[in-house]
Formats: sequence, structure tokens, C-alpha cells
Amino acid sequence: MKKETGLIMEKDSGRIIFLNSVYTHNIWGGSRLSDEFNAPVKASDLGECWGISAHENGDCRVSEGPYSGLKLSELWKLKPGLFGNETESLNNSIKDEFPLLVKIIDAKEDLSIQVHPGDSFADEYENHSFGKTECWYVLDCPENAGLIIGHNASSTEEMIEMIDEKRWGEFLREVPVKKGDFIQIDPGTVHAIKKGFVILETQQSSNITYRVYDYDRTENGRKRELHTEKCKKVIKTPSKEPAECIISAEKLKSPDNTLDVMYAGMYYSVFKMEVRGDAFLEQKYRFLNVTVTDGIGSVDGHVVKKGQSFILPYKYGVAHFEGSMELIASAMR
Ligand code: ZN
Repeated sequence: MKKETGLIMEKDSGRIIFLNSVYTHNIWGGSRLSDEFNAPVKASDLGECWGISAHENGDCRVSEGPYSGLKLSELWKLKPGLFGNETESLNNSIKDEFPLLVKIIDAKEDLSIQVHPGDSFADEYENHSFGKTECWYVLDCPENAGLIIGHNASSTEEMIEMIDEKRWGEFLREVPVKKGDFIQIDPGTVHAIKKGFVILETQQSSNITYRVYDYDRTENGRKRELHTEKCKKVIKTPSKEPAECIISAEKLKSPDNTLDVMYAGMYYSVFKMEVRGDAFLEQKYRFLNVTVTDGIGSVDGHVVKKGQSFILPYKYGVAHFEGSMELIASAMR
């Protein structure tokens, strides 16, 4: 049903692609996805909420409308027009897969220290997978918290030496981070989320992770596998300066009800919008992934709340948001 409100034509939400998130149980997961982010699964070991994903390890299903029940990977192939893909233009030189993955992570424990390969390494050694470039928006964290981002070795030889000699304290670089900061993690960057962080991660649709170090923890009496040789091949040296990876919350402050670009890189642009009252968003991207990261409200009359993700399809026009919400959105580049 369409109704006129002043000059703005309010649309129905029928074309919005609402998705059911996929949840993962992890030993390091917590209860915040259940308690605060409205996960339908009630559990105290939920580590990840894959809100927008067409990856085979967690392919979200459309929750309502004409495509209800379809997996996002199926919708991508069946209705390319929803994503601005002309069927003819899809050729073998471009991987015909939904390219991004958006998840919320609740870490009750420190996560293992990891690194991801870029596209060419993943294509060659990981069964033609995408590489993994990712970024984090910090939804919550303890006071005076830090994350592992990068390392302190100044040459490749030194990096390999520090890993072989397990000089982790010297090798790993912990940098102070606070709620509302944005962090870009390029492939080859050593990184780890620490205990108490809740983040929204926007990434390439890839699940290729190499574990550098796991704090020598054991699970059922055994240490988890490390991927030391692959790590040495993909870790970049020297690491970028923290200032090149982190955009502080202060710099990201912007007026309410506007879609602000936090970051625009090779694979994605990531945006933030604070909705206070009425907000109008022109969907001018191929498609726009949206996650409600705080509050409650509506999009074109459809109630949405913290934890919900959806996609505004190609040529959706202007979406009308109402309520009190923080939204994190992303578009492919
Ligand atoms: Zn990662």
C-alpha cells in the first residue's frame, strides 16, 4: 500500500530483503546476542550472528515476502536484478557469488590470533575462495580495552624468527580501542578480538582463516591447530601504523539521520546512520546491506530492532526510517 506523506512517497517494505540470521555456538561465545541483540536462539555460547551472508557455512534465508525461504545465495542467482546484476554481464572473470558477509560477534573470551589471505593466495591455495578483507565497528567493549592489530617485526626475517621462537609478547601489537571506533583489517594483518568486545564485522564472503597463536590454550586436552607455514607466507611486514587502520569514534561523529561513509575501500563501503525520528535514505548503490545495531524503529512501516539485518535492493528508491536506531550499512564497490 502506498500513501502520500507530504512530498515523500512512502513505499511499502515488500521489496526489502529481510533475512533470518544464522547463529554459531562457540566456546568463546556469550549470551549478549540472545539477551541484547534479539537472537531467537537462547544460549550462552553464541559467538556469531551472520546477519547477511550467502556463504556456504551460513547461508541466510529470506524471512518473508515473495522469496521467503530462499537462501541468499539462491536469490543472488535467481534474481540478479535485485542486486543490480545484469545476467549478461556476469562472466567467468568475476566470481558469481554474493560478495560480502556481515556478522555481529560477541567474544566472551580472547579469540585466537589470526591472519587472512588476500584474493590471489586464496584463489590459488584455498579452492578458488575469495580472500578475506574485513573491518570492524566496535559496538561495545570494556574500558581501556585493546585489540591485536598488526605486529612489531620490522622485516620478514624478523617476523619468521619471532614466530619460530614464540616471542608472542614482543611480536603482537596491542592497540587501544574504544566503543564506536572503526578498524580496517587488510589481508596479511595479524589480528585478534579480545574478551568483552562486541563488534559488527563487514567482510568479503570468505571463511579462510589462518591461526597464528592461540595463547597455548587446550580444548579437551588438545591445542587447536595452528597454520604457521601459511601464516608466514601471508603476514605482511611491516604492519601498517595503527593510525592507518583505526578511525576513532570522535572522527565518526556526524549529524543524525544522514548516511555517513565511515570507510570506502577496495571491496566495500561501510556507512553509519543514527536515526532519530524520521530519516530518509536514498538507495543509490547496487544494493545496500543494513543492520540495526542499536534501538528499535521501522523501515517503510516494517518494525525492525537491534540485531536485525536486511538488504535494500537495486533501485529501491528512498527508504523511510523512523524511530531511535543506530544502523550500520555496507555496499560493494
Ligand atoms: Zn579476521
